[in-house]
Amino acid sequence: MLELAGYRGRARELLSRAKASIGDVLEVKTDWGIVSGTLVPRYEHADGNHIVLKLKSGYNVGLSTSKLHGVTVMRKGEKPAFSPPKVPKSRTGLSRVLIVGTGGTIASRVDYRTGAVSPAMTAGELHALIPELSDIAEVVPEILFSILSENIGPAHWSKLSARIVTAVKEGYSGVVVTHGTDTLGYTAAALSFALRGIPIPVLLVGAQRSPDRPSSDATQNLIGAVSIAANAPFSGVYVAMHLSESDDGIALHRGTRVRKNHTSRRDAFLSVGVPLAAVWRRTGLEDVSPDLPPRGVKEAFKPAVSFDGHVALLKFYPSMPGSLISAASKNGARALIIEGTGLGHVSSQDIAAIRAYIRKGGFVCMTSQCINGRVDLKVYDTGRDLALAGVLPLEDMLAETALVKAMWALANTKGRVGAKSIMLENLAGEISTRRFPGRNQ
Ligand code: ASP
Repeated sequence: MLELAGYRGRARELLSRAKASIGDVLEVKTDWGIVSGTLVPRYEHADGNHIVLKLKSGYNVGLSTSKLHGVTVMRKGEKPAFSPPKVPKSRTGLSRVLIVGTGGTIASRVDYRTGAVSPAMTAGELHALIPELSDIAEVVPEILFSILSENIGPAHWSKLSARIVTAVKEGYSGVVVTHGTDTLGYTAAALSFALRGIPIPVLLVGAQRSPDRPSSDATQNLIGAVSIAANAPFSGVYVAMHLSESDDGIALHRGTRVRKNHTSRRDAFLSVGVPLAAVWRRTGLEDVSPDLPPRGVKEAFKPAVSFDGHVALLKFYPSMPGSLISAASKNGARALIIEGTGLGHVSSQDIAAIRAYIRKGGFVCMTSQCINGRVDLKVYDTGRDLALAGVLPLEDMLAETALVKAMWALANTKGRVGAKSIMLENLAGEISTRRFPGRNQ
């Protein structure tokens, strides 16, 4: 309950009895006399023996409950409320861009009473906070979910993809998806498979700092993403996030090749094994990769928006027991992605369980814990044994992209055999077929 956030034990008892809430002005009788001040919240893990008041002087004082003789509410505090500014009117004659809100930090506000960040802003409120968007495009904000991205999964990917398919039919020039950064890479991969050949650009965008903080990256990321959605000459699914720690540009990452690499920096996202798709600056697009599909080609668009979540991703570690593989199988996993060591290895003691899993009809794919390079099961004994058992080496595919691809393949092909056979095909740039000069491949 927010009214007494952080209070527990004896302190909570005393405050509840007095019908006090955070923000109320209290008068507290103590061993040393009467103390009055505003009740402020405590941290979730604080002890239950203190009440904290903000005094008129601005200082906070913690009062031990063992020295208190009574609490009286002198004045009820005002409940903080957020009234968003009005959504600005778009200029006419601009491209139409749909902004689909799903939640995450980019759509969050800090609750300054508790310190918690929770998704509370609609795509419309975000638009209102960044009125410049209306000079770039005719922005249509819509909210699909309002959740942190760690709670997003295959069912959400289907719903989001289906909404974007409709947006194409509705004639939007591009779609921007605002999303939490934690699983942004997974959703980008999901959309890349579900919306193959899409004729417009789809930009996934997040923020490491909520838009109500001065250091937020939300404004620049959204302005860049909306500009690209409105005007870029190419189509496809991309992640659009800060290029560097400063506000000098937006990096555009291909949807199947991107990973969050830092817990808090604004330039947390990196393309793995491939160059950036493009860079956006206030002056326009730069370094656009020549292999990006052009905008507007409708014939290649073959949406397939279902996902089957029955796939497990296992990171191998020294001493991993084979029973983890049987456990995944018992848990209903129809396919298994393993993140092995180096060229794609697990301990020899795990191979029997993998063999048994494959015999029972599951398929197993190997990816690597190394950031760069390809899986190769032909070099070492363990690799050869894995290949003989029927494990598929997924080249340089990212493990999380492989997981999403298997979920998509199981739902959109005939049975496990069909799904297995497309794991080694490059469908959406997930396997790089070219080597890029200067890259550590
Ligand atoms: N946990 C948050 C999320 O992914 C973090 C963020 O948005 O940056 O939704």
